[in-house]
Order: sequence, then C-alpha cells, then structure tokens
Amino acid sequence: MAKFRTQKSNFLRVKCVDCGNQQVVFDHAASNVQCIICGKTLVKSKGGKSEIKAQIIEVLD
Ligand SMILES: [Zn+2]
Repeated sequence: MAKFRTQKSNFLRVKCVDCGNQQVVFDHAASNVQCIICGKTLVKSKGGKSEIKAQIIEVLD
C-alpha cells in the first residue's frame, strides 16, 4: 500500500547542491526557503507545490 501520493503535502529532507548541507523543507512552502548555511534557494514557492531546487534525500510523512 505504499502508493505515491502526489496530492499530499510532504516534508522533504534535501541536500544543498552547493554546500552539502541537509535540512528539512516543506514541499508546499508559502515562501522561498534558503539553505541555512550558504543561502542558496532550496525551495521556490509557486503558490502550490513548490519547485525543489535541491537534491531530495528522503520524503518524510
Ligand atoms: Zn547550501
């Protein structure tokens, strides 16, 4: 029953492609999310599902 749910909001563990920092982000972010280390934009808010600009390590429920 591990069906992939595209409509559900998820937290994602992502890795910054610039500095390698890992942090947890929300994939329906209301505003852009920056890397806490280098300031690179990791999540670009698009009003709905966000555009993830980092490497996704893991999807968290
Ligand atoms: Zn970074």
